[in-house]
Amino acid sequence: MSLQPQEISPVPEETRRVAHAAFPKGNIYVRMRDEIGTIFDDPMFEPVFPARGQPADSPWRLALITVMQFVEGLSDRQAAEAVRGRIDWKYALSLELTNPGGDASVLCEFRSRLIEGGVGPALLETMLSRFKERGLLKARGQQRTDSTHVLAAIRTLNRLESVGETLRAALNSLATVAPDWLSSLVSPDWFERYATRIEEYRLPKGEVARIALGERIGADGHVLLAAVYEPSAPSWLRELPAIQALRLAWVHQYFVEDDAVRWRKAADLPPAGTRFDSPYDTDARYGNKRSTTWTGYKVHVTETCDADAPHLIVHVETTPAPVTDSDMTAPIHQALADKGLAPTTHLADAGYVDAELLVISQTKHSIELLGPVRPDVSWQAKENKGFDISAFVVDWEAGTVTCPMGQTSVDWTPTRDNWGNDTIHIGFHRKACAACPSRPLCTRAKSDPREITLRPRPLHEALQNVRAQQETDAWRDRYGKRAGIEGTLSQAVRAFGLRRCRYLGLAKTTLQHVFTAIAINVVRVDAWLTDRPIAKTRRSAFASLAPMAA
Ligand code: SF4
Repeated sequence: MSLQPQEISPVPEETRRVAHAAFPKGNIYVRMRDEIGTIFDDPMFEPVFPARGQPADSPWRLALITVMQFVEGLSDRQAAEAVRGRIDWKYALSLELTNPGGDASVLCEFRSRLIEGGVGPALLETMLSRFKERGLLKARGQQRTDSTHVLAAIRTLNRLESVGETLRAALNSLATVAPDWLSSLVSPDWFERYATRIEEYRLPKGEVARIALGERIGADGHVLLAAVYEPSAPSWLRELPAIQALRLAWVHQYFVEDDAVRWRKAADLPPAGTRFDSPYDTDARYGNKRSTTWTGYKVHVTETCDADAPHLIVHVETTPAPVTDSDMTAPIHQALADKGLAPTTHLADAGYVDAELLVISQTKHSIELLGPVRPDVSWQAKENKGFDISAFVVDWEAGTVTCPMGQTSVDWTPTRDNWGNDTIHIGFHRKACAACPSRPLCTRAKSDPREITLRPRPLHEALQNVRAQQETDAWRDRYGKRAGIEGTLSQAVRAFGLRRCRYLGLAKTTLQHVFTAIAINVVRVDAWLTDRPIAKTRRSAFASLAPMAA
């Protein structure tokens, strides 16, 4: 397949000649430049680089340097070196061979500008638009999504280390911006406690001594906060991020009783997902998914999975670690719709699927959300020999339900469950149930009649429909395609460092994931254009010995 390059800055003739001589069989960046062009152009960066703020180099070049940096997992310094010394990079960037490149710090500044202007996600969108123009990507196909955990770039701290480091970070911040103000406040013993990093091996052993130290740190922090919030103190001190972190941490970790600062008991702390562990990344949160626990973030990756096109990442969404997968289904669908890339079928695991999402994705975006729903957990369904909800016939117009023994319900009351969801309470006649020969299959209540709870009609029907379908081979065959996203996450983690934050904070981590997605797309389109097949899932040597299923 040959694509028309997008030309905004032609490759200098000498660079072209030398690069083609150096890479007679091609090279990923030479092909990218020849086939896809520069991907980005300067006008898209206008919101963050107004005329007077133009960097020395074109923003499109800085964006492309960052993409190539992510393709190879380079540091800023290594990327600057590559611009200076590598022919393939100069070719992709349309630079003369003699171009000396720039300073590595420009890349950090560039990322900060992208974050301030909120331009990061637009970079992936621009790339996808280029792919759409060139027929590599189309809407209304199949897509699949899964999430994985991302570790924050911080040292994991216990509570005592955390409060000590939070106070130390605030002192360091004040010592940088208001040294004279701080010097007049602190006493000499503070230098003994907070001049060096707070580390577990230096902390006292035994609960009493540790609580005493915790309350000593709490009292010091309280003194500092009181001084910062004194009317005579410069008001801008309160705005320092380290002071805000200190204030929040002290609310979480301490309470004041009889004018003394007290250490909260573990049971009195706010939920782990609302607290931060380290003052150096206050967005990072404790997360927990099945048996995995971590501090940091979660990233949701969505890719196309049609057989007749490359599998491209069309959306990445980074969230704090505690956000559940089901909370992200609707935002992902909305984002895909906004890009004009809503799929016909969206494959996702049970975490992304519930009755409401099945209905909303269909009605709002015409997306078939294909994933398993929670099974019916009633004893009747689990033992597979009783009358579970699927055995009852609902007449929605009449507002009645008929049981397997032909009795009609006598109660139909709209209500709400403990989580605020709309439900309908159904009850049967006491006498009819008492005399029923099938009662042991229907209810274990001593004397009460059978009761069931329905969701509103569209949700009930969607749930029952999927519960019935997911037991069939045809459904399992269709859903089997979802598993491919595991390979994409594995590629992103192993080859592109997705698992570990390169930067601090949610905004920078989000940008990291956008560039990771773009880098993966560059590699995948190159594989597609050079007819390299998708690698098969590897099996361990031992697993390969297992006899094939009959
Ligand atoms: S127990 Fe009541 S609801 Fe259940 S099958 Fe018998 S009559 Fe119907």
